[in-house]
Amino acid sequence: MSDHALPNILLNDFSGGNLLRLPSNFYKSAKLYLDYKSIKKVQKAYSVGFYAHQGQKRRDGSKYITHPLEVAKILLDLRMDSDSICSALMHDVLEDCDVNKNNLKELFGSDVADIVDGVSKLGKLDIKGRKDTEANNLQKMMLAMSKDVRVVLVKICDRLHNMRTIEHLPRSKQIQKSKETIELYAPLALRIGMQDIRSELEDLAFRCIHPLRASMLESAIRKSSGGRKKIVSKIRKDLKRRLKTNGIEKVGVKGREKNIYSIYRKIKSKHKPFSEILDVYGFRILVDSIDDCYRSLGIIHNYFSPIENRFKDYIAIPKSNGYQALHTSLLALNAFPIEVQILTRNMSSIASFGIAAHWQYKTKENNISSGLRATKWLTGLVDLQKKTKNPSEFAQSIKTDLNSDEVFLFSPKGDIYALRKGATPIDFAYEVHTDLGDTIIGCKVNRNEVPLNIELETGQTVEVISSKKDFELDPAWLNYVVTSKARSAIRSRLRKQKISDARKAGKVMLETELKRAGTSLSDYRGSSLKKVLDIIGVTSLNKLLTDLGLGKRTGSIVAERFYSGLQIREGIKELKPVLILDNKIESVTIRFAKCCMPIKGDNVIAHSDTERGIVLHHKRCKQVTPFIKKDSRYMPAIWGDNSKDHLYKAKIDINTEDKVGVLSELGSVFARSGINIGSVNTKTIDKKFAGFEVEIEVKDTQELKNIMQKVRSMKLTTSCKRNINDK
Ligand code: MN
Repeated sequence: MSDHALPNILLNDFSGGNLLRLPSNFYKSAKLYLDYKSIKKVQKAYSVGFYAHQGQKRRDGSKYITHPLEVAKILLDLRMDSDSICSALMHDVLEDCDVNKNNLKELFGSDVADIVDGVSKLGKLDIKGRKDTEANNLQKMMLAMSKDVRVVLVKICDRLHNMRTIEHLPRSKQIQKSKETIELYAPLALRIGMQDIRSELEDLAFRCIHPLRASMLESAIRKSSGGRKKIVSKIRKDLKRRLKTNGIEKVGVKGREKNIYSIYRKIKSKHKPFSEILDVYGFRILVDSIDDCYRSLGIIHNYFSPIENRFKDYIAIPKSNGYQALHTSLLALNAFPIEVQILTRNMSSIASFGIAAHWQYKTKENNISSGLRATKWLTGLVDLQKKTKNPSEFAQSIKTDLNSDEVFLFSPKGDIYALRKGATPIDFAYEVHTDLGDTIIGCKVNRNEVPLNIELETGQTVEVISSKKDFELDPAWLNYVVTSKARSAIRSRLRKQKISDARKAGKVMLETELKRAGTSLSDYRGSSLKKVLDIIGVTSLNKLLTDLGLGKRTGSIVAERFYSGLQIREGIKELKPVLILDNKIESVTIRFAKCCMPIKGDNVIAHSDTERGIVLHHKRCKQVTPFIKKDSRYMPAIWGDNSKDHLYKAKIDINTEDKVGVLSELGSVFARSGINIGSVNTKTIDKKFAGFEVEIEVKDTQELKNIMQKVRSMKLTTSCKRNINDK
C-alpha cells in the first residue's frame, strides 16, 4: 500500500471487516479484562496506527508500529482503560503522519484525541541540558500541562520502551536520554507512585551511562547473593512461621530485590562500601488488612530486636504519592540487620503501579469524563488520609500538581519560571529582572509578537523585547499585572516620575477613559466636579490626576465614577454598582478574597487599591462590613454574564457523626456531582462528632446550594453551612 493509504482508511467505516487483527499475544492480554466493544476500539486504534506509520522504520530496522505496540502492551499489563491503550497505539501519529487531532476526535472521541495531543505536546518540550534545580519545576510543569493524568502515564511508558531499546541510538543521544530519564522521568514516575517503572527506568539509564560500574555492581550482587540465599530463606521462613502461629492467616513474605541504581545512589550518598550496603536484607510482608499490618509489626518486634529510630508509619501518614506501608529495621537471628516493609496486598499494588492502580478498568464507568475520574482518584487519596494529621496538605499537593494555579514559562535560554496564573509578559519581565521589567517595550511568545497584556500559558517560550532609551512608564500597566513583584516595581517607578509628569500622564489616562463614554473632563465643572471628587474621596482635581499618574488609583474606575457622578445625589449608598464580567471589572482582573471566598451570584463588594488591585469580598464578610460606608475605595458590584464558565472556590463547614467511612461517603457525594475538592481540614469535635472544613469549586450559588442540599441529606450529616467569614 502507498503512503496515502491513511486518508482512505480514515474515511472508512471501521464497523466493517476491514480492521487489522491484533497481534495474538497482544489480543490475549487485552481479552483478560477488556470487553468486546473496547477490544474493537483498540483494534481500530491499532489499524490507524499501523497505516499511519506504514513505511516508517525504527533505528533497528523494524517496522515503526512495533514501538507503539510495545508501549500499549506496558499499559495493557497495568490494566489501564481502553482509551489509554488506544492513545498509546497512536501516540506518535500526530507527529509526522497524515493525521490530525480532529480525525482522532471523530474516530475515538475527545478523551483519546486529548491524550494523544497531550503526549505530543510533552514530547515537544525542550528539556535538554537543564540544571538539576529545575527538574522539580519541570515535573510540575509536565503534570500541569497534562490535565488528564493518563497523558503522563502514556508518556512514561513511551520513555520506558525507548529506554529498553536505547542501544540503537548513537552514543551521545544515549547519554542525553539516560540523564533526562534519571532527572525527569524516573522522579515523575515516583511522583505518581509507579515504583516498579521508576526502578526499571533508573536501572536502564544507569547501565547506559555507567556500563562498567553497573556490571561490577551486578556481579558483586550475584556473588554475595550466592552466600546470602541460605540466610535469606532462613529468615523468610522464620518470619512467616512466627506470624502464622500468632494468628496472621494469609501472610506472604518475600525477599526484596533492590534496584542497582538505588544501591549505587546509597554508596555515593552514604560513602559506604557496597559490602556494607548489600549486607542489609530487605523483606516485604503482605497481609490482608490494615489491622493485620499493625499486628504483624507487634509480633515481629516481639521476636527480633528492633533497631532504634528506624520505625516509620506510612499507613497513618502516607507519602505524598499515596504510598502506604509500615517500615521497620530489626536484628534477625541475632546478627543480621534486616529492613522490613509491612503492607496490605492492595497497598502493594498501589506501591508498584501508583496512579494506574487507581485507574483500574471498570466497564460501568466507561462514560464518565476524565475530569470526574481525576476527582474520584483524588477523593480516593483523600480517603486514604483519614488518619493523617494534616490531610489537606496532602490533598492539596496532589491537586496543585494536576490543576496548577501557576503557569510555567521558558526564557529563550531555556530557564523555567513559575508565575501566578493570569500573568502577562510584563509580569514575566519583572520576574526575570526588575531592569528587564522597567525597559520592556514588546514581547514575543513562541517567536510571534504579542501585545503586552495577553495572558501567558504553560509551556510557552517568552522573549522580552526591551528598549535602551528611557521612556515614560504607562500607569495602565498596573491593570495588566498579577504578580506583586511587578506591581510594586511599577509603583515605585511611577513614584519616581516627576509630579508634573505624573499629572500629565494622569490627565491623558482619565481623558482616554472618559472619551470611551462619550464625555470629557471639560464637562465637569464647579459643583458637579466637586460632587464627583467628594465621592472619590480626594481634595482636588490636581491631586486626583497626580494619583492616577503615579498609579495610586485605577483609571477606568475613576472614570466610571465621573460618568455616573452626574446622576448621584448624595452619599456612597447610591453608587452605581460596577459590573463583573469574566472575573474582571472594567477589564481589570479581580482577586477573590480568601477570608470569605465569594462566588458568582453572591452579594459582593469590590475594594480597589493599588497594592493589590481589585479584591472582591462577600458583602457580609466581617473584614469589610465596618468600612464599606467610610472608605471610598469600596464599590458595590454586580455579576454580569460570563462568556466562559468559571469555577469559584467556596468554603463549607460540615459536621457529621464520627463513623468510619464518613469521609469517603462525603467524597463520593462530591465526586458523583462532578465537584472538585480543593482541600479538606478535619477536626474531631468530641467522641461522637467530627467536623470538616471543605474547599470546593462551583460554578455559582445555585450549584453550591444543590451540593449542600445533597450533603445535608446524607444520613450521618448533622449540619452543613457555608463559611463566608461573617461572624
Ligand atoms: Mn514514542
